[in-house]
Amino acid sequence: MDCIFCKIANNLIPTKKIYEDDKIVAFNDLEPQAPIHILIIPKVHIGSANEITDENKDIVSHIFCVASKIAMEKGLKDGYRIVNNCGVEGGQTVQHLHFHLLGGRSMKWPPG
Ligand code: 5GP
Ligand code: ZN
Repeated sequence: MDCIFCKIANNLIPTKKIYEDDKIVAFNDLEPQAPIHILIIPKVHIGSANEITDENKDIVSHIFCVASKIAMEKGLKDGYRIVNNCGVEGGQTVQHLHFHLLGGRSMKWPPG
């Protein structure tokens, strides 16, 4: 297993979990881009948004459901951003599907 997020999900790299259930895990980003910057990932390895299929797509709605709960728990009642980077031009650097939950500052649009 040569995937850093698989290692985090399987506790091979000790990481403080913000949320965990049988399907997903959330933890702080190593290099936060906002006061709150949490990554939410499926435990199962999915390489990117391009690998979401009819068979595994329910994980995405589950992640969004949990993301909004985490956002409220973190006090982001005035708003937040959920980001998925896909592929080289999308800025994806870790090849395991993940959603960034960012908040605690005003977000700009369009992103760079
Ligand atoms: P991407 O650029 O693929 O959308 O996002 C990958 C994110 O993972 C980056 O924001 C990066 O800081 C974060 N990251 C990379 N390696 C680690 C790690 O080992 N632990 C944690 N907590 N975050 C990581
Ligand atoms: Zn993985």
